[in-house]
Parts: sequence; C-alpha cells; structure tokens
Amino acid sequence: MSQKDKLIEEAGQNTRLAHIGNDPRAYHGFVNPPVVKGSTVLFPNAEAMEKRSQPYTYGTRATPTTDALCAAFDQLEGSAGTILVPSGLAAISIPFLAYLSSGDHALIVDSVYTPCRTFCDTMLTRLGIDVEYYDPEIGADITKLMRPNTKLVHTEAPGSNTFEMQDIRAITDAVHAYSADVVVTLDNTWATPLYFRPLDFGADVSIHATTKYPSGHSDIVMGSVSANAKHFPALEAARIAMGICGAPEDSYLILRGLRTMGLRLDQHQKSALEIAEWLDGRDGVARVLHPALPSFPGHEIWKRDFKGSSGIFSFVLQAEPERAKAKAHAFLDALSFFGLGYSWGGYESLALVVNLSDRTIRKQPIEGAVIRLQIGLEDVPDLKKDLEAGFAAAAAV
Ligand SMILES: *Cc1c(COP(=O)(O)O)cnc(C)c1O
Repeated sequence: MSQKDKLIEEAGQNTRLAHIGNDPRAYHGFVNPPVVKGSTVLFPNAEAMEKRSQPYTYGTRATPTTDALCAAFDQLEGSAGTILVPSGLAAISIPFLAYLSSGDHALIVDSVYTPCRTFCDTMLTRLGIDVEYYDPEIGADITKLMRPNTKLVHTEAPGSNTFEMQDIRAITDAVHAYSADVVVTLDNTWATPLYFRPLDFGADVSIHATTKYPSGHSDIVMGSVSANAKHFPALEAARIAMGICGAPEDSYLILRGLRTMGLRLDQHQKSALEIAEWLDGRDGVARVLHPALPSFPGHEIWKRDFKGSSGIFSFVLQAEPERAKAKAHAFLDALSFFGLGYSWGGYESLALVVNLSDRTIRKQPIEGAVIRLQIGLEDVPDLKKDLEAGFAAAAAV
C-alpha cells in the first residue's frame, strides 16, 4: 500500500470519494482516468502473448477504466476484489450462479428485491437449486433453516419496499458457525458503502445496483459485486466463464458519480427524513416505513449498525381494502414533481405503489396501500406541497 493509499484509508468519507479510483500521474496528470474502449490488446511478442505477461490482455477481462472503478469499490467496501456487471439484477444473479450448483439449498430473505425472487423461482429452480425464503427478522435463528446442502444465504438490509431491518452480524455469525463455507451475500444498494460496510459485519459479498446512488443521474444501468478474499476467485471465474464485463463508458460515469455521492446522500438523507417525520402520524397515513424513524420496528438495529439512511422509504396510505388501489392511484396521479417510474437514486423524486403479492412471509399491510417515495434533490417545501395534492386527491376518493 502506498503512502497516499494509507492516508486515503484513514481519511473522511468525502476526501476518500475525491481520491479513490484514479492515478493522475498515470495519465499525464489529467485528473480523471480516460475512457479506454477496446476489445483487442496487442502484445509485444509471442512469449508475452503466451504468458499473458501484461496488465491488460483483452477487453472483456479489464480495461484501465473498469479497473479504476473496481479499485474504488474495493476501497469503499474493504473487499479483495470487485466485478462489474451490466445491471443491478445481474449483480445478484451472477454471484448466485457462481456459488450455487444443482442440488444446493439457498436461503433468500422474503423482503428481497422482487426481480431477484423471479430469478430464483425460475432459473435457479430450473437448475435444480432448492430456494427457501426466510423472515427478514430471523436473526441467529437462521441456523434452524440451515441444511447440510445450504450453500448461500442472501440478505438485504433494509429490505426492498417495506424496509425491514436484518441483524446482519447475528446472521453471519450463526451461518458461519454452522459452516464457514456458506456464502453470505448482501444487497447493499440502499445504504451504499458510505452508510454500511457488509464485509465489516461478516458478510462475504456486497452487491450494488450502481444504477442507483453511485450513478445518481438516472442515466446508467450497471451493477457491482465486491467479495472477500475467500470468495472472490469463484466470482471472477464465473464472470469470465460467462463473458460478463462492465462497459468502459458507463464505468467512467459511475466513477464520476462517486465523487459527489457523499454530498448527494447527505441531502437525500436529510430531505427524506424531514418528509418521513412530516408523514408520521399525519391524517391518511397508517404507518411510515423508514428505518431511521424511532417508531419503525427495526430502528434499533439500524441505529446500531448503519452510519446513515438514504432517500427511499415507504408509507402506508390508509384505506379500506376495496378502495386502496383507487386511493393510491388518485394520490399518484395528483403528483407533479414526483415522477411515476421505477428505480431510484437519481436527483429527481419518484413515487409508485408497491406490489407485495409475491411475498410469502412479509405480506401486504392490512391498513392500506404501500406507496414508495424516492426523495430527490428538489427543495423539501415543493415536495411537501406536491404530496399535499396527493393526499387531497386520495381523500376525495
Ligand atoms: C434497483 C435494485 C436492483 C437492480 O438494479 P438494476 O440496475 O435496476 O437491475 C437490485 N437490488 C436493489 C435493492 C435495487 O433496488
């Protein structure tokens, strides 16, 4: 480790984001690493080609641009290696394919990102992998579900859409006490490595939809998977075997997004909390699902383990079951600044009605419709005015 790397390691969050993943002296002093596009990499002679004795050998393996982004993630996550993949969903499916074989058993948290469940219930099941969903608040009792053929435990904290917290330390300790070889993966998209570092809590693999906060501008689809030294080789081997690689242009833009991610997250956090507190206890709101609110069941775990909260949370719009959908639609249709669209992590606010029909354990709340909000970088008073219009429209149904 160089002297500068050591200083970066000890530096504050925003200093680190300004100095990781680049080496200006390697590029004539230019601050950012260039976008190196390429398939073929030439070797100086036949022996070098045979031995592949140079840092870059082919475009699918790595380029200086993808390497710069992987190095940045390794520094943020404390991981031994990172791979880049074409989407956040691929950042889940590729490690699953890397670590699971026919006849294996996988434990998946019930509050998982919905398309992950689709992957498990279709492809993994077809490949002969036994998939079982578990309660997000299971903690150390995860061992009761472990079997001799259990190879992977997938966690997501907080969970998608309903934000249940998981006690990651309790789970990783219990799983690894059962068998040191079982891989614990964690989808860390919500917190980013700035607010939670899964490997510090015993997880083996940290997954990101870099589509979200690292991109920050709703213009890139990409994923990253960072692993510890024990589990990185199998991950990298699977990536190479499947021909998966990160695009240099997108890698450049994600690296650019990282520079401001700390500042953006600070603002997302502040605005989202202000709006969540404003919604908590408001007429028409049955519950607010935000881990940083003391009223939220998983709040103590969040407070103990996380350094911050991001800009996405949900609330339950109070409604009798037969009118829940009509009220939710009226609410959404009255919004102007909140766009109706999937994904999150960009600068603009978004809203949608959450569909929980695929849940087997943590089902739809009975008090009404779950509305998910991504709080963007707009001014909070404008967003509140927008939400007021939504509540007025919902109340009129
Ligand atoms: C969005 C998301 C993903 C998938 O990311 P894409 O780039 O849209 O495929 C994975 N996990 C979580 C928690 C997400 O929110």
